[in-house]
Amino acid sequence: MIERLCVIGVGLIGGSLARALRDAGHVREIVGASRNPVHLQRAVELGVIDRFDTDLASAVQGADMIFVSVPLGAMGAVFRSIRDALTDGAVVTDGGSVKASVVADISEAIGEIPSWFVPGHPIAGTEQSGVDASFSELYKDRRVILTPLAETDATAVSRVRAMWEAVGATVSEMDVKHHDEVLAATSHLPHILAYTLVESLARMSEQREIFEYAAGGFRDFTRIASSDPVMWRDICLANGEAVLNMLERFNRDLASLSEAIRASDGDRILQIFSEAKSARDGFAG
Ligand code: NAP
Repeated sequence: MIERLCVIGVGLIGGSLARALRDAGHVREIVGASRNPVHLQRAVELGVIDRFDTDLASAVQGADMIFVSVPLGAMGAVFRSIRDALTDGAVVTDGGSVKASVVADISEAIGEIPSWFVPGHPIAGTEQSGVDASFSELYKDRRVILTPLAETDATAVSRVRAMWEAVGATVSEMDVKHHDEVLAATSHLPHILAYTLVESLARMSEQREIFEYAAGGFRDFTRIASSDPVMWRDICLANGEAVLNMLERFNRDLASLSEAIRASDGDRILQIFSEAKSARDGFAG
């Protein structure tokens, strides 16, 4: 049971966790914090948080659990604002999509890797942002990855694990670097491809016609290009090396497909598509 949860960044990810913990009866009081009081007042009206404070240092006072769910580019400033205001025994965790950058940000803010910080990442989300998009079931039957370090206190990890399990998530642990490489492949590359495809087509002179005739496949493939550009800019910057490795690999495969089409090599094209279908059917099944 969490006595007082402070959610810094009450948007899709933070708002959904607050709603789910309340529904699960796992929290007594929820304090919200971010920059804009209008957004926070909306979160109170929706019943997502009990009260709010735009001063992050006062917001975390007395909280036994702090969840930081702001864009990656804002993490460092948040850690610097709260570092001297935490209550003894408080656990801080986050939901950022890249882990090495968040660990670097907290180490820089505190001067060392603190034992009370548990880096985390819920593998759940939608292309919507803000507290209005948050919903209680977001984490049900979804995975959450924690990337504790040698310095991380085992009790802090257990408390964060219990929090996520209370909202129906399955928790696993992973090394920071491995997390960032896996997510570059499974999440960051697909988002970059969706944004680039839509941007390429939008710049064509026939764009009106193209989007008018866009059918199911185009809609399915590009849904995630409606995601928040700030969040995805920050992810590309924070996980640049792993993202570039994946892009290089993908460019090689795309060049190989282009070559097969140029050479009218039907067998090679069929082989590529058949292998992809079988992998996708296996994963979806
Ligand atoms: P979001 O809906 O836009 O919410 C972000 C919140 O952060 C907003 O409530 C915003 O409120 C607050 N914020 C922004 N800058 C801030 C700052 N400098 N100081 C304090 N508060 C600030 O974004 P989200 O989708 O929940 O993403 C939050 C985090 O979760 C990101 O790190 C992202 O990488 C990670 N994540 C996202 C997804 C996804 O699918 N969306 C999935 C997994 C993980 P104000 O405008 O009032 O400041």
